[in-house]
Amino acid sequence: MMTDASPSFSAGQCDACGTERGPLLKLSLGKDFFGRPYDRLSPSADQSPKWYCETCSMHKTLQRDFRDIRAEFDKLGAGHASALAGADQLQRAQLRLREIAAILNGHASGSRLLDPADVNALIGRMQAQAGAPPVAG
Ligand SMILES: [Zn+2]
Repeated sequence: MMTDASPSFSAGQCDACGTERGPLLKLSLGKDFFGRPYDRLSPSADQSPKWYCETCSMHKTLQRDFRDIRAEFDKLGAGHASALAGADQLQRAQLRLREIAAILNGHASGSRLLDPADVNALIGRMQAQAGAPPVAG
């Protein structure tokens, strides 16, 4: 195998699964699950651009949403201000997690960006919270 580790231009293969089958996509700017600007990959701050094949680029988006939802849910559990502080938002997040889990189930092999077990665990935590009696006050 040839190893061509050019740091400046590495769009020859997917950074997640290593496939060389294109098209490869560079993650672009956008909004995260909660509508906040997502600028971690902005050109000025992005020191090591990542390129992903179509499947991994979708998984990367799922991973991002999952992490955002988990972070907000952790804040909620800790009693901090959270973007999930509302039944509507919680329900929307749960729907998204189920969607993520379903998509991951359809891609059993390949990308390892996101572990379906983690997603299912978070769904379980949310369900436990939803089933818990409301805290008075
Ligand atoms: Zn890939």
